[in-house]
Amino acid sequence: MSTIAEIAARLQGYDPQALSATQVGEFLAQLVEPLRETEQVAIFDALDRVLARDVVSPISVPPHDNSAMDGYAFDGAQLQPGQPLELEVAGTALAGAAWRGTAAAGQCVKIMTGAIMPAGLDTVVPQEFTQLLDGDRIRIPPRALRRGDNRRLAGEDLRAGEPALRAGQRLGPAACGLLASLGLATVPVVRRPRVAFFSTGDEILSLGDARREGAVYDSNRYTVFGMLKRLGCELIDLGVVPDRPERLEAAFRDAAARADAIVTSGGVSVGEADFTKAMMKQLGDVAFWKIAMRPGRPMAVGRIGGSVLFGLPGNPVAVMVTFLAFVRPALLRLMGATAPPPPLLKARSQEAMRKKPGRTEYQRGFVSTAADGALQVRTTGNQGSGVLSSMVHANGLIVLHHGQGNVAAGDEVDVMMFDGVL
Ligand code: AMP
Ligand code: MG
Repeated sequence: MSTIAEIAARLQGYDPQALSATQVGEFLAQLVEPLRETEQVAIFDALDRVLARDVVSPISVPPHDNSAMDGYAFDGAQLQPGQPLELEVAGTALAGAAWRGTAAAGQCVKIMTGAIMPAGLDTVVPQEFTQLLDGDRIRIPPRALRRGDNRRLAGEDLRAGEPALRAGQRLGPAACGLLASLGLATVPVVRRPRVAFFSTGDEILSLGDARREGAVYDSNRYTVFGMLKRLGCELIDLGVVPDRPERLEAAFRDAAARADAIVTSGGVSVGEADFTKAMMKQLGDVAFWKIAMRPGRPMAVGRIGGSVLFGLPGNPVAVMVTFLAFVRPALLRLMGATAPPPPLLKARSQEAMRKKPGRTEYQRGFVSTAADGALQVRTTGNQGSGVLSSMVHANGLIVLHHGQGNVAAGDEVDVMMFDGVL
C-alpha cells in the first residue's frame, strides 16, 4: 500500500495546490485497492454486487435447438426458390414436451416457441405466414423464408465450459437473469464496502434541532447517504460532528475502526479556522488539495488507519459533484468493479456558457430531445455551489473540460448522465 507521498512522487506534475480533475482520478486509482474478501450470495441478493470470480457456464443456453416462433418446423432443404411448399402436419411439439417422431419428406411438425426442434428439421415457418389447407396440410407461400429461419441454436447464448461472466462485472438485472439461466442458485461476490460518513461544522443543524441564526440544516449527509446507498455500500452514519477536537477525534477513530472508507463534508477549505483538517492530519496520512474544478476545489484525501478518507468540501452541490466525479469511481474500484466509466453523452447546448480554460466545470444540466430529434441540454437555474435545487432539476452534469473555453449556444457539450447513479 503506497503512502500519499509515494503516490504523489509517481504522478507527473503533481501540485496539491493545482490538481486537474484527471490527476485526481489517477491519484485515487493508486490510493484505493480492491477489497479481497468475497461471499457467496443468492441471485436475488446479487443485484448491484460485483462478481468476485469468472463464472464458467456449467451448461449450454439454450440446451437444445428450439423454435423462436409458434409455427411449423420442417426440413428447409425442401424450399424451392419462387415456389410455394405444401406440407402435411405429422405431429405437435410443445415447449417442454418434445415431439419424438421422425418427419418424412413432405411433412412438418406444428411447433410452439421454445419447443425442441424435432430431429432432422431446421426451419420454422411462423403460423401467420401459412395457409391452412383442408385436412392436416399447410401451404407456405413463395419467398416467405429461408432455410434455418426462426430456429435458435443450442448454446447460441452461452456455451458450456466457456466464461459466461468475468470477475469485476457489476451485476445488473440482465446479469442476474443470465446467472439464473445457467441454473446457478448462488454466485461469489466481493463483500460490500463499509463506508462511514458524517458532516462537520458548528453551523450545521441536525434534523429536529431548533433553527438558530447563521445555522443551516445538514443536507450533505442525506445526499451522501443516497449516493452511497445507490452504490450498494454498507453505511455507518456518524451524524453531524461539531467542530471540537475531542468530538472530531472520536468520530474519525470510530470511522477508521469500522469502515473501509470515510466520507466527510465541510471543513477542508483554505480559510477554515476549524479543527477538521488538523484532526485529519494528526490521525492519518492525508493530502489537502485545491482542484482546478468548479464547483468543488478543496478536498482532503488519504488514509486514516486502514480506511480511505474522502474529505469533501461543505457546499452541497460541491459535495455531490466531487462525489460523482471522484468518490464514486474510487468506491467502484474498492468494490472490485472493473468497467470503465460510462461514456459521456454529446448534446447541443441551448445557451451560451462562460468558461475559463484551466479548470473543469460541472454545470447542472437537463437533457431533452430537440424538435429535430437531436439531444439538447440547458442548465437548471442558479449554478451556485450551494444551490441544491440545481441538482434536483438536473438529469446530468454538463462537463466543461479542463482546456475548454466559452461555449456558444448551439455548440456541442459533454454530459455525464445521472441515470442509474442519482
Ligand atoms: P465549508 O466547506 O465547511 O467551508 O462549508 C462551505 C459551505 O457549505 C458553508 O456555507 C456551509 O454552511 C455549507 N455546509 C457545510 N456543511 C454542510 C452540510 N452538511 N449541509 C449543508 N450545508 C453545509
Ligand atoms: Mg466550515
